[in-house]
Amino acid sequence: MFNSHVHTYFSPDSTESPEAMCRAAIDRNMCGIAFTDHASLDSYILDNAYRNILNSCEAARSLNEKFSSLKVLSGVEISEVTRKPDYASRLIKATNPDTVLLSVHTAVINSKPVYFSKINFSAMEAGEIYSLLKNYFRDVYNSVTSADFDILAHLTHPFYFINGKAHKNIPAHDFYGDIEKIFSVVIEKGKSLEVNTSKLNSDYNMLMPSEDLIRVYRQMGGTLISLGSDAHEKENLDLGFEETKEFLKKIGFNSYVYYEKRKPFKISL
Ligand SMILES: [Zn+2]
Ligand SMILES: [Zn+2]
Repeated sequence: MFNSHVHTYFSPDSTESPEAMCRAAIDRNMCGIAFTDHASLDSYILDNAYRNILNSCEAARSLNEKFSSLKVLSGVEISEVTRKPDYASRLIKATNPDTVLLSVHTAVINSKPVYFSKINFSAMEAGEIYSLLKNYFRDVYNSVTSADFDILAHLTHPFYFINGKAHKNIPAHDFYGDIEKIFSVVIEKGKSLEVNTSKLNSDYNMLMPSEDLIRVYRQMGGTLISLGSDAHEKENLDLGFEETKEFLKKIGFNSYVYYEKRKPFKISL
């Protein structure tokens, strides 16, 4: 199994060493991992993001040399790319990652970016949540349309906080039109949709995007998917991978991809 979405202590929200991640992956008989540390273009001091990604990519390259039984690839998870597109291209050029993930983690509230994880959705009216979600899908659409990337990461991420944590009941169906537009761009550009397993061990217990949306992607002609557990701790390196692989086979996928030097390589499911 190959995990295309792994964080290390080069992300501000992980304390795991790159080497410990590799050893845990080998213990789990995984064939490879990609370090995709955070470069959030809203909130971090950009010089730090640049240095962290440079160090993360270097760690991946040297650990790839060290461990012959594990492919260790470099990467970056770029968020809020539309807010600083020039910085994103400079970062990619300077760090030369194997994999570029694209994601959106924040909403703009009162002209300020706020992480979805920090928003108190319990106290919010449905109308306001709908409007935040509409803007989230608009931001994702603008990101996939304009940015350089390989994999669209954890589409529907805010629903974990809204439905999973704040126990609202807002169906993703209500945004099918927006989601289909995003899938169309991903498919047309020949990019991949991430099947993110990180919330399978929570009360939310759903893939991101959810199973019905992965089916829609497939029906629209989407063939490229990647597997990511978004592990910030080594214990979550292959979280839910076995059951997810079975689901993907059942709905007609026969392979998933990882990226090396920004090119997709298939692995049979
Ligand atoms: Zn993320
Ligand atoms: Zn992540």
